[in-house]
Amino acid sequence: MKKIAVIGMGPAGLMAAQAAANAGAAVTIFDRNEKAGKKLFITGKGRCNLTNDISSEDFLSHVVSNPKFLFAALNEFTPQDTLSFFEDCGLKLKIERGGRVFPESDKAYHVTDALVSACRSAGVKFRFNERITALKLSNDNHISGIKTERGEFLCDAVILATGGASYPSTGSTGDGYTLAQSAGHTVVPIAPALCGINLSGDYKALSGLALKNVTFSIFSGEKKIYSDFGELTFMPYGISGPVVLSASSKINRLNVASLTAKIDWKPALTAEVLDARILRDFNQLQNQTMEQSLVKLLPKQAILPVLKAANISPSKNNNSLSKKEREALVSTLKAFPLTLRSLRSIEESIVTAGGVSVKEVNPKTMQSKLVPGLYFAGEVLDLDAFTGGYNIQIALSTGVKAGKSAALLAEN
Ligand SMILES: Cc1cc2nc3c(=O)[nH]c(=O)nc-3n(C[C@H](O)[C@H](O)[C@H](O)COP(=O)(O)OP(=O)(O)OC[C@H]3O[C@@H](n4cnc5c(N)ncnc54)[C@H](O)[C@@H]3O)c2cc1C
Repeated sequence: MKKIAVIGMGPAGLMAAQAAANAGAAVTIFDRNEKAGKKLFITGKGRCNLTNDISSEDFLSHVVSNPKFLFAALNEFTPQDTLSFFEDCGLKLKIERGGRVFPESDKAYHVTDALVSACRSAGVKFRFNERITALKLSNDNHISGIKTERGEFLCDAVILATGGASYPSTGSTGDGYTLAQSAGHTVVPIAPALCGINLSGDYKALSGLALKNVTFSIFSGEKKIYSDFGELTFMPYGISGPVVLSASSKINRLNVASLTAKIDWKPALTAEVLDARILRDFNQLQNQTMEQSLVKLLPKQAILPVLKAANISPSKNNNSLSKKEREALVSTLKAFPLTLRSLRSIEESIVTAGGVSVKEVNPKTMQSKLVPGLYFAGEVLDLDAFTGGYNIQIALSTGVKAGKSAALLAEN
């Protein structure tokens, strides 16, 4: 019987462990933590958006780094297979807006419980509070075991599913990168993904303001490199919210301080229609100050910052606003400027971009091309996707692939 060690009890490791055990291997799964799924526990604000009910083909358009690498894994274990897997485990699921799948209970830990039960039913052995410190290779460069803080564990194959380097308090501290490097693997430099953006300049007055239905665009010089419609929130440090998180994954390899960003507060209105709307408001609010004249158009908290950006005095009477000033107001509303400084840190990003280079891993098996018997699954690989359940699905699909391959393949 093939003996397999799985490192990491996140979604990738747990899925890999049960797949390998169900394929006939003797599997032991290790985690440095005292329990499984510490990161899973906090996903989806504690509700765990575990996949997206989308076709495998469409899925790939939501993957930022190396979508092609995922083709085989995602076709073998599709988002719909995830739905069936958990429902077969007795976990009821529900599908929300945009195809996002959650447990019906809204409890992320029910997802972990289901994975742990699947492992236990398949005969997987659990070892908690045991950090893996090294991989053991034989003289002919095959995997021969692992070293842990407590000793050695000899085995025929190892599945490395240690996650990324985000939210390190969950146990994902980036150990997998060092372990992979020690076996000769290249690690693509890691970067924050799905994180907020720090701004330069004074946006304090906007802090806490949550906007819906705005368009957020990023420019490199004159060239628009990102644009999305949706929700954006001003934070004490800068901006966050869905459109900002997605943007961060697109710009994390660029010099963020050299980019500019703009918010269109009224994307549904052309400049002409917006101008007419403003005139209508002024008509209804005759002889009011500019500060009072925008109450119908903007959230109260946004009025002074917008007027400041348009260089219009808030105490000016709307009757005396020149056409030029009104044009400045319209263009500020259509393109409110933000000065970007940097991304937030990896530690507080939702996923880690970069990781073990997929060029050195066989996409059909998840086996290392360099070290027979070494397999990878989940976020430790150079794979990352947008929000919507895609990152956990990547962990599950690569986990199934790695688990089955490690159990069934003869390494040579
Ligand atoms: C706040 C937050 C919310 C999120 N929400 C969602 C969401 O709703 N939907 C979604 O798709 N994605 C979400 N994600 C991303 C998702 O959680 C990760 O992509 C996913 O957990 C990666 O799975 P993994 O199994 O590869 O790694 P992880 O879940 O990070 O698990 C890795 C495990 O390996 C263990 N480990 C690490 N090093 C060692 C070592 N040396 N020895 C022993 N054990 C080790 C760790 O303790 C950890 O338990 C969210 C992430 C965060 C931070």
